[in-house]
Amino acid sequence: MAVIGVGLIGGSLALALRRRGLVGEIVGVGRSTGNLALARRRRIVDRITTDPAEGVREADLVVLATPVGALAEVGKAIAPALGPGAVVTDVGSTKASVLRDLEPVIPAHAFLVAAHPIAGTEDSGAGAATADLFEGSRCILTPTPRTNARALASVRRLWRAVGARVIEMDAEDHDRILGAVSHLPHVVAYALVNAVTSFRKDALDYAGGGFRDFTRIAASHPIMWRDIVLANRESVLAGIDATLAELSRMREWIDRSEGRPLEEAFLKARITRRGLRPPGAGARRKR
Ligand code: NAP
Repeated sequence: MAVIGVGLIGGSLALALRRRGLVGEIVGVGRSTGNLALARRRRIVDRITTDPAEGVREADLVVLATPVGALAEVGKAIAPALGPGAVVTDVGSTKASVLRDLEPVIPAHAFLVAAHPIAGTEDSGAGAATADLFEGSRCILTPTPRTNARALASVRRLWRAVGARVIEMDAEDHDRILGAVSHLPHVVAYALVNAVTSFRKDALDYAGGGFRDFTRIAASHPIMWRDIVLANRESVLAGIDATLAELSRMREWIDRSEGRPLEEAFLKARITRRGLRPPGAGARRKR
């Protein structure tokens, strides 16, 4: 197995598969030798290289786990070195852009299966990887008419083996859904932290649980999230517009001291939030 990008997600998948004895040698590919050396020290990978083509040369399974903005370049770099029957899969948080970038470059003798594990934290790098990250999580696969059925079945088995429930959906649908429940909240969290510090710098000294809970994800990796929101531009823009509309309605009610509509809006959100099912419970289209 070759893992390109031995960070939180790629490293955790390698650890989880190794713990279950499901892989042989694991090759870690990256750019910085510091992170790769840490991955080897932690026994996440057996061998390391900064050359993607060298890393995938003998691999049966190639996991692409870099930020999504790097995948087009990585795909081109590995394409000539992929062996016959190699399964190439990714873990990117956007799916239409990943398929657009990778499907045309992966050669016909190798098989691409696009995947997105819905698990993670705000931490990054090989130091953050854990073997149980995917236990009880969901993983969304977005097959296309070009996806090979046997490769799809192997990737499905792989994610089930590390504890995920596997769901399949269309890539565009995936991006609209994740744009709403994941990508938009990250933008809002980043914006809120910046907004608070811009109008009252010392306020953070008094930040309590509410601020911390709300903004935890603003500690996430800026490059990864830059890539995600640009790759899923339309859905994120639609989400920002909806949020701005909601905020401006609330702003008006507050400005006019109109308690009634404000209370109704808060109550509606409270009921929705309290009805939220735990992660893993609400997956549709389970296979
Ligand atoms: P991460 O911890 O920062 O790991 C990414 C790794 O990719 C880094 O170790 C980095 O190492 C390597 N990398 C970056 N650019 C590269 C390039 N051009 N070529 C080779 N290696 C490169 O990030 P992550 O959280 O694991 O996220 C990885 C992917 O998983 C992203 O596509 C993200 O959208 C997706 N994802 C993340 C989460 C989450 O919650 N974090 C959840 C689901 C999916 P070097 O700097 O040494 O190259």
